Amino acid sequence: MASSDRIGIVGAGLSGAVIGRALAEAGHRVEILDARGHVAGNCHTERDAETGVMVHVYGPHIFHTDDTEVWDYVNRFQTFQPYKNRVKTTSGGQVYSLPVNLHTINQFFGKAFRPDEARAFIEAQADRSIADPQTFEEQALRFVGRALYEAFFKGYTQKQWGCSPTELPASILKRLPVRFNYDDNYFFHKYQGMPENGYTDMVARILDHANVTVRLATRFHRADGDGYAHVFYSGPLDGYFDYALGRLGYRTLDFERFTYEGDYQGCAVMNYGDFAVPYTRITEHKHFSPWEEHEGSVCYREFSRECGPDDTPYYPIRLVREKEQLARYVARAEQERAVTFVGRLGTYRYLDMDLTIREALDTARLYLARRAQGAAMPAFVQPPL
Ligand SMILES: Cc1cc2nc3c(=O)[nH]c(=O)nc-3n(C[C@H](O)[C@H](O)[C@H](O)COP(=O)(O)OP(=O)(O)OC[C@H]3O[C@@H](n4cnc5c(N)ncnc54)[C@H](O)[C@@H]3O)c2cc1C
Repeated sequence: MASSDRIGIVGAGLSGAVIGRALAEAGHRVEILDARGHVAGNCHTERDAETGVMVHVYGPHIFHTDDTEVWDYVNRFQTFQPYKNRVKTTSGGQVYSLPVNLHTINQFFGKAFRPDEARAFIEAQADRSIADPQTFEEQALRFVGRALYEAFFKGYTQKQWGCSPTELPASILKRLPVRFNYDDNYFFHKYQGMPENGYTDMVARILDHANVTVRLATRFHRADGDGYAHVFYSGPLDGYFDYALGRLGYRTLDFERFTYEGDYQGCAVMNYGDFAVPYTRITEHKHFSPWEEHEGSVCYREFSRECGPDDTPYYPIRLVREKEQLARYVARAEQERAVTFVGRLGTYRYLDMDLTIREALDTARLYLARRAQGAAMPAFVQPPL
């Protein structure tokens, strides 16, 4: 290579780490800054000091993908242990299996249906009078009827999004959210697993390259981009512009930690469907590492609320108002030179880890191709709108 660029990367989460590694391997000098004191962004894991259990600090993360290149990529840096995500929910004082499946239906209605019988039964429950559902509630009533909607969707959705399902668009529930068999594996993907030593160890290994420098506890501001040939920014899009056009709406999470001697709930994730229970779920972290043995247990009760200026942004809200605001930020971003906005915060989208890695690999490849052609990089490789 004729010369090497000095590349700035904001954020040491999966987006920043994967782009950084690819450019470092291509011979560029990469500096990665993160405001936090650790790498791995929101999939950060660490051992709980009291119990020794590996904890998913910002909420439960299960790796699942159909993308063979991404699966091979993560396996380059970490051994993945087999893991199947099986979620339970407590509703009306009983425990059911999720996603709503034949077991859930039979238990809930006190029946012993076979698949065809259950399908016909649910179809009879569905509210056919709703011809053109506009809201989440109408869509759910039309798909599954009132009883299942109220037990499994209404309260949880209301707690998660902080508004009534009558205020959310029907598009959130695109397909019939029910299975007419006993498959309780949450994901359909070909590959699923858990990194043996946690996500932070995996990301630290991705970053372990002679051309990569990581600076933690270092916040990037727009003016800091000047010394770099190019900046890849995986922080919040509105934050880059100092929130000049207002704050994009997010939900944030609060975690209430507690410990237990033994096995608290018998599974990793227990949802709470009733609105009267203020938390959405309890995560018992040791069940994410079934190959380890721990006497003690650490659990997080998870509460969802509106994200304030000093909170961690988790889920982008992306309703009509936010999308209009997003369009204004996108227009501004497209005026910037030598900056590409990436990842879940830079593009204001919910992204699973596998898609984050896929997009990061594609972004790095595009940079190298454009550079070879002497062409500029776009502000967005993935359009946020
Ligand atoms: C509760 C929850 C559960 C999830 N569960 C799953 C799951 O089960 N499976 C799955 O595949 N995906 C899951 N995800 C998605 C996963 O977290 C994301 O795919 C992943 O974190 C995206 O990586 P990223 O690098 O784009 O963003 P992040 O991980 O958010 O990293 C961005 C980094 O940028 C840093 N930063 C921001 N602004 C600045 C600044 N100005 N200066 C310096 N640093 C800055 C931040 O500190 C952060 O470390 C979940 C997400 C949430 C919120």
